[in-house]
Amino acid sequence: MSVSAGGSAGLAELADLLSSRSLDDAALAALSDAAPDTPVLPEVSVLKIGGQSLMDRGGAAVLPLVDEIVAARAAHRMLIGTGGGTRARHAYALAGELGLPTGVLSEIGSAVAGQNATMLGYLLAKHGIPVVEPNAFATIPLRLAEVGAAVFPGMPPYALWQRVPSEGVVPPYRTDAGCFLVAETYACRQMIFVKDEDGLFTANPKTDPSATFIGEITVDELLGRDLPDLVLERGMLELLRHARHVRSVQVVNGLVPGTLTRALAGEHVGTIIHAGGAR
Ligand code: ADP
Ligand code: MG
Repeated sequence: MSVSAGGSAGLAELADLLSSRSLDDAALAALSDAAPDTPVLPEVSVLKIGGQSLMDRGGAAVLPLVDEIVAARAAHRMLIGTGGGTRARHAYALAGELGLPTGVLSEIGSAVAGQNATMLGYLLAKHGIPVVEPNAFATIPLRLAEVGAAVFPGMPPYALWQRVPSEGVVPPYRTDAGCFLVAETYACRQMIFVKDEDGLFTANPKTDPSATFIGEITVDELLGRDLPDLVLERGMLELLRHARHVRSVQVVNGLVPGTLTRALAGEHVGTIIHAGGAR
């Protein structure tokens, strides 16, 4: 198939294909790919504040991060997504044991990520930083212009429409995926996952003391290693592989003071995972 890239000829051809073919047509997909992208919020950094890894540790972990976030507004605009954590896992265990489906577990997980966003939002309230729910995302540009940051619940709002996993009932797209999709959709500057380990290891360092640190890796290399457990959701790695804008993410240790600030400045202070390949 031959397609002309961009331009008014390309536009006319695309309009023609859109009116005459199915939206799954290959030539149509290629032509729509050729149009130049419009980055929506390219200066913004998206952070994910871990649920189990940080929020569940309480003030000792969360308050220093709040201070770093507040100080970082002098140099950065930030969208701050929250994880679910232990309460979400408890609810998944209960609902799973009751035989409830993935879509229901997804709704329950959303509620917990929302609770963490509410708590983080109240800690940041005196600095003017609001919580923005997905149905109010249109107000994000104004919030960023006014106060430089906004908190959002990290769970993607798939709810009942969450994709069913290949195995089990736990929603495959949880808060790592939700935060990443915000960064990718808005073509943000960077995506930083703030957790409680220095980054990715060859195994879970909490249960395997022989695990060694991996400073940088591509998605394909990572999946090829077939590690027993990962620091990021597997579904999120697939999203990264196909990303148009955010072609790498960094996982950093939010328990080490100053690490988030250094990561925001673009330093390699944790594990960088690259989409790899050509897009
Ligand atoms: P969040 O709080 O953001 O949801 P998770 O608890 O889901 O984060 O994931 C982070 C945890 O993943 C770490 O605390 C660590 O114990 C665990 N983990 C599992 N496998 C790995 C690995 N290969 N490398 C690093 N951490 C891992
Ligand atoms: Mg998690």
